[in-house]
Amino acid sequence: MYYPFSWIKSVARLCLFLLFFALVGWYVNDMLLAVAMGATGLLLVNYWQLFKLNRWLWHSRKMSPPAVNGLWEHIYEGIYYLQRRNRNKRKELGALVKRFREGSEALPDAAVVVDANACIIWCNRLARLELGLRWPSDAGRRLDNLIRHPEFIEYFHAGKYHFPIEVPSPLNAQKSFEYRIMPYGEEHLLLIARDVTRLSQLEEMRKDFVANVSHELRTPLTVITGYLEILPDSDEQANPFIKKAYYEMSAQTLRMQNLIEDLLVLSRIEASSERIYENTVDMAAMLKQIKIEADALNKGKKHQIQFHLDHGERIYGIETELRSACSNLIFNAINYTPAGGQIDVYWSYSKEGGKFLVKDNGDGIEQQHLSRLTERFYRVDKARSRKTGGSGLGLSIVKHVLNHHNSKLQINSRVGEGSEFFFEVGDAMIASQD
Ligand code: ADP
Repeated sequence: MYYPFSWIKSVARLCLFLLFFALVGWYVNDMLLAVAMGATGLLLVNYWQLFKLNRWLWHSRKMSPPAVNGLWEHIYEGIYYLQRRNRNKRKELGALVKRFREGSEALPDAAVVVDANACIIWCNRLARLELGLRWPSDAGRRLDNLIRHPEFIEYFHAGKYHFPIEVPSPLNAQKSFEYRIMPYGEEHLLLIARDVTRLSQLEEMRKDFVANVSHELRTPLTVITGYLEILPDSDEQANPFIKKAYYEMSAQTLRMQNLIEDLLVLSRIEASSERIYENTVDMAAMLKQIKIEADALNKGKKHQIQFHLDHGERIYGIETELRSACSNLIFNAINYTPAGGQIDVYWSYSKEGGKFLVKDNGDGIEQQHLSRLTERFYRVDKARSRKTGGSGLGLSIVKHVLNHHNSKLQINSRVGEGSEFFFEVGDAMIASQD
């Protein structure tokens, strides 16, 4: 039973105790000695209680406190209450950690937590099975000493975790893992590794399939075009139906050829393992060459096309890919701007990097289409796009090329005013002129 502690009661009891000894001392005529004896007795009793408390705290196995009275009962009760509270808290915390561990064991991915020094704090069962970590013997060991793939180590130390990387499994080179790192708390990192073997196999199969089909279709198409070219098309006497069929066949084979060419370009870019930092491109010179082709394409449309080029600086990159991206953007502006429009092409650079921009004063594109323009085969107006011979792959090619060059296609467009297609490359992409 807990009684609230009262200081007044305790002081009154002490006074009564000393008063009793004082009275005895007065009776035997030595008050000082009697009070001193009483105080010594009190001191000894308290020391004895302290000794018992120490024994209970450090040596006793019993949780419940020994039975005592008075002030000491309050002290024992207080300590006992604190102990019980701590034990309950520990239990709750233990249950929480257990539930969290069970949850993370149920994760379909390998998960590892490392501290600010890259030392492993915790890992789940899949991390042990798939990444070969041992638990608990690997706790406290550096993660980059256990997963030794150079690409992973580079990614781990670069500190730029906003994109995942894909590298072979440390245990089985046939398996591919996607590693994603998420910083949290006080410089802790959570590493999630997902088995993407099947996905990358499917992706490879898809790429190979598209590349092979496009390649195989090219030959029969060349034969058909060849025969169409040698057929007499200007024969005034010819049956009008045959004439119509001839023109339709020529237009459709041309469209199909463009489509196949674009598919092959896309496959090549996707499969490209060329490193962008191994070559440099003179953008201004390359755009000058594209201008010749643009002028030829512009003959029917009669747009005012102006090129504003900053000369002198080269950028890191792959010329064939950048040529394909820039010409796609310029040719689109020519094709989709109504005749007699104004098209401006800019290549400029500053300390921050370079910027390529194609601006037209065409019909513009409605806002809802902008985010989908770079999807394969996405067209705003299918019929119109077909007339221009477009495959619907142009902006998809641009997106892949820019992705490969660490950049991104950006589009500003207003219906009735025109469009701006542009991309920027950072200063690290500008090759020094030495
Ligand atoms: P396509 O091969 O059909 O031209 P793209 O991927 O190059 O395909 O372009 C996708 C769509 O974006 C086009 O069908 C067209 O509707 C629209 N588009 C692209 N460039 C422009 C532009 N400069 N002005 C207006 N619409 C454009």
